[in-house]
Amino acid sequence: MIIKEASFVSSNTEFEKCPPPDLPEYAFIGRSNVGKSSLINMITNREKLAKTSSTPGKTQLINHFIIDKSWYLVDLPGYGYAKISKSEREKWQKMTFDYLQQRTNLVCTFVLVDLRHSLQKSDLEFMEMMSENELPFNLVFTKADKLKKNEVERAVKAYLGEMLQFWEDAPASFVTSSERRDGRDELLKAIHDYNQL
Ligand code: GDP
Repeated sequence: MIIKEASFVSSNTEFEKCPPPDLPEYAFIGRSNVGKSSLINMITNREKLAKTSSTPGKTQLINHFIIDKSWYLVDLPGYGYAKISKSEREKWQKMTFDYLQQRTNLVCTFVLVDLRHSLQKSDLEFMEMMSENELPFNLVFTKADKLKKNEVERAVKAYLGEMLQFWEDAPASFVTSSERRDGRDELLKAIHDYNQL
């Protein structure tokens, strides 16, 4: 899929105020610093569409972008930032879970995890919430350029193996590097295929 147009629509703290749910929508989420903004910019071919924030955990907004007038890409606030206060965390949780559970046009969520790390508690908790609510998600491994090719394969296998302790099946997964623009075609193809359903 070739992206011709990608533009910012709105930032919201309440899912009710998000754009009318009239197009298929795909959300991107992960621990802060996982490489989410870089990935969004890489897949949309826009250097500064999603802001790479210098203060992780600061921006707690649901950001909508419209792609080729045909689907929404949603940048959700990151989680797992240690220094965040309990009330900020609760605010994040309410805003994000309300959105994920009630947004009627949300087709699938892409959960980003750093390929160099094992299954983290915050990722596990998030993915368990998704499963419990029967919300479909795919896994996106980020920063693959930081590992050698054989290490990438090993890391993916180990991560998916860990997931099988909690799930019967592992989700679909994508290996990406925003630095090298790896995984872009595969991600866009998946979204294109969903859009045809
Ligand atoms: P976010 O907080 O999840 O939006 O993460 P950012 O996109 O702001 O990235 C966090 C840090 O990781 C920044 O220093 C990026 O330059 C770096 N980063 C993001 N993606 C990649 C990648 O694919 N490869 C490498 N080597 N670094 C990356």
